[in-house]
Amino acid sequence: MSAPPRSARPVRGQGQWALGYREPLNPNERMKKDSDGLEVRQRILDVYSKTGFDGIDPSDLRGRMRWMGLYTQRAPGIPGGKTAVLEPEELEDSYFMMRVRTDGGALTSEQLRTLGAISTEFGRDVADVTDRQNVQYHWIRIEDVPEIWERLEAVGMTTTEACGDTPRGMLNCPLAGVLEDEVIDATEVMAQTVARYVGDPEFSNLPRKWKTSMSGCVDHCTEPEIDDVSFVGVVGPDGEPGFDLWVGGGLSTNPMFAKRIGVFVRPEEVTEVWAACTAVFRDYGYRRQRNRARIKFLMADWGPERFRQVLQDEYLHRALPDGPAAAAPAHASRDHVGVARQKDGRNAVGFALRTGRVTGTVLTRIADLADRYGAGRIRTTTQQKMVVLDVPDEHVEDLVAALAEHDLLVRPSAFRRGTMACTGLEFCKLAIVETKQHAQDLYAELEKRLPGFDEPIGINVNGCPNSCARFQTADIGLKGSMVRDDSGEMVEGFQVHLGGHLGVEASFGRKFRGHKVTKAETADYCERVLRGYLERREPGEGFAA
Ligand code: SF4
Repeated sequence: MSAPPRSARPVRGQGQWALGYREPLNPNERMKKDSDGLEVRQRILDVYSKTGFDGIDPSDLRGRMRWMGLYTQRAPGIPGGKTAVLEPEELEDSYFMMRVRTDGGALTSEQLRTLGAISTEFGRDVADVTDRQNVQYHWIRIEDVPEIWERLEAVGMTTTEACGDTPRGMLNCPLAGVLEDEVIDATEVMAQTVARYVGDPEFSNLPRKWKTSMSGCVDHCTEPEIDDVSFVGVVGPDGEPGFDLWVGGGLSTNPMFAKRIGVFVRPEEVTEVWAACTAVFRDYGYRRQRNRARIKFLMADWGPERFRQVLQDEYLHRALPDGPAAAAPAHASRDHVGVARQKDGRNAVGFALRTGRVTGTVLTRIADLADRYGAGRIRTTTQQKMVVLDVPDEHVEDLVAALAEHDLLVRPSAFRRGTMACTGLEFCKLAIVETKQHAQDLYAELEKRLPGFDEPIGINVNGCPNSCARFQTADIGLKGSMVRDDSGEMVEGFQVHLGGHLGVEASFGRKFRGHKVTKAETADYCERVLRGYLERREPGEGFAA
């Protein structure tokens, strides 16, 4: 008998719980079923902080620790070429990276001072402000985790579900609530959602990570195009502000843009609708293969119409009204660097770190400056930058100068402003290439070679294809890989992706054949590309055009 036509074959299940696949189909699903990720917290407090690193159960060490924001870090000195050939335990040392969730990037000076002190005392004075508005430490010992948690919890902070297959730290505009032109302030609805659901076992076993943004920023600075679920500020049919729901964005090795679901969500419905979307993902998301488990794959198969139907019929049990599309981003730059006028007449002062890398000492200093020149409110951005709010006119330049003493620049070059870097080889076990220092050297070199360049330009440096620093959405996206140099040696380098951008007619950067550069060649390559752009550009034409 001949084989049935392909379309008539039964579709192989993808491990969707809603279709009855409750038995784990891979080791990650088994690990989550054996013991919920959140349960590791008590074991850290009662057992591992006393036994030390060597006493940690391997399934907690490389699995559930993430539910509490902890990853083992890469041991120093292991080159990128070894990443794919060594076992996880050969790549790691006995220290952790620890991510603190900073939902919406909102910090008080007291919280920031606490974050700074933890870095200084427990993390060798190193910290990163990540492009998801979190603060991340390195060099953390398991013995110190209970005290770190105690200090964080004393100022209302947590590492719970900062990583893992969970609702991770949520994004909001750093200027939420202070700018005149925002569509809506999402601060309150986000706080309600976090308070209700973060750490709730109802959503602590999702198929994969779950990245949320809720924002009324006119510049779409939370990049809702590439989040799993986004509530994007929009003026509704009755003239009242609310949210346009987008689902299914994500980068990594199969980048996809989020789809508009087409509904209007009133502010008081956000937490419920977010929970319903999360439940759809939990129940229908693909759990067979890790690399197909993000919601973008479900969205690619279903499309927004079916997602809406399931959301409404099976979870909300009511129809949501149709809604208008959110307006296109108002400005090309989304980073909130510089001085912006607040609606109360004071100012928001945004500044660039060095590709997100900072010390605990400097974080503490920023907290002091926010108290002295502002009102003790600080924000982190989705571009590895920070903002001090509530600065009166007469203090702006004093603050600008005080920040500059620590190389925190309110008016940085286009290159420094537009460069981001992921964690990279220094600490990340998946990395192929060192990134943070390389990115800093790169922007410094471009500042020297092209001193007058003043167009917004995004240069995103990534240590591997996972795209934590979003190489597909940058003007110049650098994806870490081993490349061959002129003498035939395999060395650290990058596959280049050019012309990625978000907003109107968003598109992913294109990979050109042969556009591979060694680290040593990166500055030459970028200079060539940028000089070519300067020679050919039409008046008013940005790089992305
Ligand atoms: Fe690590 Fe790769 Fe993410 Fe960089 S992009 S932080 S190297 S996983």
